Amino acid sequence: MTAAVSLQKVSRHFGLVKAMDEVDLEIVPGEFFAMLGPSGSGKTTCLRLIAGFDQPSSGHIEIFGETAEGVPPYRRNVNTVFQDYALFPHLNVIQNVAFSLMLKKVAKAERLKQAAAALETVKLGGYGERRPGQLSGGQRQRVALARAIVNRPKVLLLDEPLGALDLKLRESMQEELKALQKSLGITFIFVTHDQGEALSMADRVAVFNDGKVQQIGTPEEIYKRPQSRFVADFVGSSNVLAPDFVQSILGVRRWASLRPEAIHVMAAGTSASRMTGTIVTRSYLGAVVRLLIDLNGTSLHASVPSSEAVPGEGEKVTLGFAKDAIHLMENEK
Ligand code: ATP
Repeated sequence: MTAAVSLQKVSRHFGLVKAMDEVDLEIVPGEFFAMLGPSGSGKTTCLRLIAGFDQPSSGHIEIFGETAEGVPPYRRNVNTVFQDYALFPHLNVIQNVAFSLMLKKVAKAERLKQAAAALETVKLGGYGERRPGQLSGGQRQRVALARAIVNRPKVLLLDEPLGALDLKLRESMQEELKALQKSLGITFIFVTHDQGEALSMADRVAVFNDGKVQQIGTPEEIYKRPQSRFVADFVGSSNVLAPDFVQSILGVRRWASLRPEAIHVMAAGTSASRMTGTIVTRSYLGAVVRLLIDLNGTSLHASVPSSEAVPGEGEKVTLGFAKDAIHLMENEK
């Protein structure tokens, strides 16, 4: 199958800064693909290259099998939703949505009809006459979406589109975006630095760091089987175990990761496990309590359901975890 977007050894250097360094990506048609990474890791640069707002220093990009180099943004079969939405304040909502159709010289009646349909899709049917300034943040974000989908692009690029919204709205928009993507069948490429957002929405995630893709996989693969310390740490705050510690448990000298929720914390002396430690900090997070435990110099995070009896700071505890909860890593960085 032809990839929706294919990047082959794509680099973008700004002087000495390697914003992207030999990135390979194959994005499948119809998938919800997240580019996840910390600030400055190269995600936005990657999105801009796919959109055509910037050109690679080297490498090759194809969009549905066609070479993208030299093709201007408006000729690519992609549309971008920007973080700040970039709506025209002096135009009303329907005019905002219909704007690009006007540039394409679609007749007025037809473009208003298509814009109204796009607004229905994002559940803003009755809002066509309002100005962007008269809408809530979540509604503005939906107008920005409608403005992109009215062009019926094959690929929709979204640059932190939920970044400006508060937590509650973000969560409901995450569900809406996912449902919208499924119903439209469009390929979504989504940039975020929020691991929870990437894991909950995407079919596959590419984890960026320092201009390189560290790992690509389904949310479950990325979370349960991180290939590097960076991914283990960044995606879900895993415990990274040093080779000495791993050797003492499994007999092999390798870096490994252990998820906080895989650790059972028991009151000292109530189990046969010889792993005893002291609780250094105890943070109540609502559904879970997060503990930092000192185990003879090794610090481990454990997360325990708050419905259980959780020991307090300074108390001695015994730890248990299944050996197969320890995931050996291929890459030690
Ligand atoms: P954020 O989440 O903060 O948006 P990002 O992962 O999207 O970060 P990029 O915007 O792609 O990161 O930037 C990657 C690196 O390239 C950064 O070090 C950035 O400073 C640098 N960079 C990006 N654009 C330019 C430019 N036009 N000139 C010089 N350096 C740039």
